[in-house]
Amino acid sequence: MAPQREWFEKDYYAVLGLQKGATEKEITRAYRKLAKEHHPDANPGNKDAEEKFKDISAAYDVLGDAAKRKEYDEVRNMVASGAGNPFAGAGGGGGFANGFPGGGNIRFETGDMDDIGGLGDILGNLFGRGRRGGATTRQPGAGPRRGGDLEAEVHLSFDDAVRGATIAVQLTGAAPCHTCGGTGAAPGTVPQTCPQCNGVGTQAVDQGPFSFSQICPRCGGSGRVVDKPCATCGGGGAETRTREVKVRIPVGVADGQRVRVKGKGTPGNNGGPPGDLYVTVHVAPHSLFGRRNNDLLLRVPVTFSEAALGAEVKVPTLDGSVTVRIPPGTTSGKTLRVRGRGLPKAAGGAGDLLVTVDIVVPQTLSDEQRQAVEALAATDSANPRAHLGV
Ligand SMILES: [Zn+2]
Ligand SMILES: [Zn+2]
Repeated sequence: MAPQREWFEKDYYAVLGLQKGATEKEITRAYRKLAKEHHPDANPGNKDAEEKFKDISAAYDVLGDAAKRKEYDEVRNMVASGAGNPFAGAGGGGGFANGFPGGGNIRFETGDMDDIGGLGDILGNLFGRGRRGGATTRQPGAGPRRGGDLEAEVHLSFDDAVRGATIAVQLTGAAPCHTCGGTGAAPGTVPQTCPQCNGVGTQAVDQGPFSFSQICPRCGGSGRVVDKPCATCGGGGAETRTREVKVRIPVGVADGQRVRVKGKGTPGNNGGPPGDLYVTVHVAPHSLFGRRNNDLLLRVPVTFSEAALGAEVKVPTLDGSVTVRIPPGTTSGKTLRVRGRGLPKAAGGAGDLLVTVDIVVPQTLSDEQRQAVEALAATDSANPRAHLGV
């Protein structure tokens, strides 16, 4: 008989008013006494008694049969060993697998479980839940595992950020062994298929009514063994060293931007892929230019007469100079746009150069200038502060 879902939920010993170690005699005696007491014939129309009688019968059906009782006890032991009631919601964190002794390395083999009927469904559900939980599936040594992501920072000049650059980043940490290239096998040899698990990485372990798969102790889950280990890494395939990664910084990168370098993180385990490297870019400010996205910002001082009369002024760009026409009557703070002379865009094209006009006032005046300005002042007619109402 297959273990039943009910076995996880019901304490048959308690139903019969017994302790777990009860003898066969005690079980039979308790059953007879309770069955007589709650028998439907003795309690006509009493629904509670009817339910109780069913429970008692179910309990005795299992506990009264030595073979069934043994299986039931094994199920109950597992529940008691920490897994709790596997049907009681999502509590208990990582799920059922963690409840087993050394559970971190044991996982359910759903394929085997299907062979034992109802239980397969139960454990299939549990397994599904554990999978989503994450912790139970990221077991150390359990088959291929992706390496971790790494973080690094680079400092770029404004010009390098504008034009893009290739920067060498030094990373110290786990890296594929430089002698064996990460295989763990001595030079001239290659890893062999593990003879104990035939390359599967797991092996079946019988535990009472269950069949589990356990990480193969011979190969640690990789499915491969190394006859002659690499002397540099001792067969592990990884070593701690400083490696240099060339990071291509795209054109027009902005301060604080993160650049992903695929596959340059920590090496994977057991043939899993490596993680990624994320490089945070710091861009030094420019002595002249500011920046807003792909637009380049520049403040340009102009004299009062240039602003009043209009002028053509030469301004620098990232690439040579350009002449900007200041229209007559330009006010201080006005921004003029020079299309296409901003920062190159990664996708092609470029942003604009935004020229903000700063009208400068001379700190000293020659006699000639003073007379000219006084003559100008004498012509002022309108009050520019009239709108302030004072
Ligand atoms: Zn090596
Ligand atoms: Zn193996």
